Amino acid sequence: MTQHTWSPDSWRQKPVRQVPTYPDSQRLSEVEQLLSGFPPLVFAGEARQLKDQLAEVANGKAFLLQGGDCAESFAEFNGNNIRDTFKVLLQMAVVLTFGAACPVVKVGRMAGQFAKPRSSDTETQGNVELPAYRGDIVNAIEFDEAARSPDPDRLLRAYNQAAATLNLLRAFAQGGLADLNQVHRWNLQFVSGSPQGERYDELAQRIDESLAFMRACGITSDKVPQMQETDFYTSHEALLLNYEQAFTRVDSLSGDWYDCSAHMVWIGDRTRDLDEAHVEFMRGINNPIGLKCGPSMEPDELLKLLDKLNPRNEPGRITLISRMGADKVQERLPQLVRAVQKSGHSVVWSCDPMHGNTLKAGSGFKTRPFDKILSEVKSFFAVHRAEGSYAGGVHFEMTGQDVTECIGGAQAISEDRLGDRYNTYCDPRLNANQALELAFLTAQELKA
Ligand code: PEP
Ligand code: MN
Repeated sequence: MTQHTWSPDSWRQKPVRQVPTYPDSQRLSEVEQLLSGFPPLVFAGEARQLKDQLAEVANGKAFLLQGGDCAESFAEFNGNNIRDTFKVLLQMAVVLTFGAACPVVKVGRMAGQFAKPRSSDTETQGNVELPAYRGDIVNAIEFDEAARSPDPDRLLRAYNQAAATLNLLRAFAQGGLADLNQVHRWNLQFVSGSPQGERYDELAQRIDESLAFMRACGITSDKVPQMQETDFYTSHEALLLNYEQAFTRVDSLSGDWYDCSAHMVWIGDRTRDLDEAHVEFMRGINNPIGLKCGPSMEPDELLKLLDKLNPRNEPGRITLISRMGADKVQERLPQLVRAVQKSGHSVVWSCDPMHGNTLKAGSGFKTRPFDKILSEVKSFFAVHRAEGSYAGGVHFEMTGQDVTECIGGAQAISEDRLGDRYNTYCDPRLNANQALELAFLTAQELKA
């Protein structure tokens, strides 16, 4: 099949879903123009380095940990939030690295995870119908006409916030906070007294002992950069293609196109149609990319997508993020794994146990039961074991804050406590305790 020529704007010729209609298209063009001239957020070389590390995952030699907010927001943007999510991700990574003796590739849903697909274009309250909230990069969450009107200037604010977030993440990753000697400092105050916190402290103690032993042998962290700093990458759903296009630049080294808004970007489950705009855009960029696979994904459809998105079968290019739901994963995943294996496509298989397990609590809050989340992770590993394939990663919506958004876990958050600290701008996230608990349970599966 001959493909027509790709360009950063060739997606504009295709049908597109889940993007807003801006009332002020003149201002939208001006903003797109401005963004195209702004400095990129990441470099192509970094995206290539992540792709190399994901190739290791695809080969069963490392594990992918991806996590962060469902939707970043303007209101919750502050240094402490970024630091605390980063710390929990480091904790989870160390639990997996130490617990399963496996290198962990760390990717945040951070510094650009703003735009949200919605099940309905509008939201109705009483007899008022307004455009749905599509993330702070598009409109505001408040339910009034002005707030819900898509505003192009929000793209500029999102870029600035992403730049500042990434700046801090780079400082944390390389400026000392991620030093393995700091492993005790990553435990957050409200976690430290909990069973997970104590379990983590025990593990940190063992790491301390290992480090002391290595020091005594003359191996100090100043001689081993991997002990002092870490690689930390960013990712988001490439939903708002105007924004993504503006950061798509030619890499001077390779001459290839990269979307320099993040190291990795993914295609959502609602926008993965073979002949539509999102797949068209993603096929031309050279970043490592993710593809969400929900329960409606059919094997032949998946193979067509892989052929289109990774025609040269480059390892590390594709991460398939399975999000079937705890009750469907055993039924829907095996046929996909088998088809991919038979095709010879190299992929990373990652498990998003969040998006197939969302329900509405009696109180009206959207929530996710911890048991279902855990059950999907376990089934995901079981399916891969049965198929002789490698379960290569996990993808969580989580935060370093002590929120009450998902029910259950060791803290046994009940439905009637959801309202205590329900702060998410979109889907319910694991809090730091729940995230850590899940990391311990995932490490067990990985080791098994
Ligand atoms: C998400 O990751 O927030 C999301 C919307 O996921 P999905 O595309 O899998 O529904
Ligand atoms: Mn979500």
